[in-house]
Amino acid sequence: MNSEPVLDRTPDSTDRGLDQALRPRMLDEFVGQPGLVANLRVAIQAARARGEPLDHVLLSGLPGLGKTTLAHILARETGAAMHVTSGPALGKPGDLAGLLTNLAVGDVLFVDEIHRLGAAIEELLYAAMEDYAIDIMIDSGPSARSVRVPIKRFTLIGATTREGMLSAPFRSRFGFLEKLELYPPAQLESIIRRSSGHLGCPMDDASVRRVARVARGTPRIANRLVKRLRDFAQVEGGGTVNAELAETSLRRLGIDQNGLVETDRRIIQALGRSGLPVGLKTVAVAVGEDEETVEDVYEPFLLTEGWITRTPRGRRLTERAVKWLEDTKRGADTLFG
Ligand code: ADP
Repeated sequence: MNSEPVLDRTPDSTDRGLDQALRPRMLDEFVGQPGLVANLRVAIQAARARGEPLDHVLLSGLPGLGKTTLAHILARETGAAMHVTSGPALGKPGDLAGLLTNLAVGDVLFVDEIHRLGAAIEELLYAAMEDYAIDIMIDSGPSARSVRVPIKRFTLIGATTREGMLSAPFRSRFGFLEKLELYPPAQLESIIRRSSGHLGCPMDDASVRRVARVARGTPRIANRLVKRLRDFAQVEGGGTVNAELAETSLRRLGIDQNGLVETDRRIIQALGRSGLPVGLKTVAVAVGEDEETVEDVYEPFLLTEGWITRTPRGRRLTERAVKWLEDTKRGADTLFG
């Protein structure tokens, strides 16, 4: 269970509406990721000039960095119809075969969480990507045989948080393998300004900077924080977010001065108790989260902000974290001692 709703890995139903409203629609509106954007711009222009469908694209990166947004932009910029599905939703090869045989020339098939496809489906898909045909088994037992069914030339866009889980032959079928990185604060500030404008919630410069610092390099978290701050501003702050309102609101959301949330603090404390490098599994058990959540949601921030390091033998605290632990302990001692 994720104890911090603002950091949830996947959008909840209200966030889905928000995600859509705040989603950049064209490549020019997409903030950051300059290398990747430049590559995709060339790909779009070349495909348009040749009048051909875009080559298959694999987008990898942590949750909330803009993979789905980019997939929609790619479809829109090339004028393609977009069909959306996800790895977990494609249970049987028949589900995928149905989708593929209904595609028109140039359509985009977006498969989110593509690393969660079953092996049989993955194989079917990579044959489809290369040969634009699928082999369907008909009948069973001794009379079973496979029939090759042609499909239209389409573009597959896969999104994954776990690129390493894709097989090598599958990965090699993608013309573009693009990785989204965490956003630096200056880019998050642009995203926050854009979102606060769209949401009709003015924020002063100091509050924009404050939110950018604690948004963990992730646009989805930045947008979520803007939304929560808008609530506080509407109810208690006369509609505008300033530094003071941002500070008290973030605190009420469980985010401290350093941008740490409760689970971050518990991770640091667990590593502090051990004193030795600690494996991911042990960290996850100590804080009551699953390993993937610790790795995808908490650790990227703790690593980039210099609280923990990853060594071959496990996670360990940095000097900054050791000092913070001592300070908090001293603070608690003065408070309660
Ligand atoms: P992912 O598919 O990687 O989990 P999404 O594409 O759903 O992430 O993005 C989450 C939210 O963050 C969306 O609402 C989108 O508006 C916003 N967002 C993501 N990347 C950017 C960006 N580069 N510029 C502006 N907003 C972005």
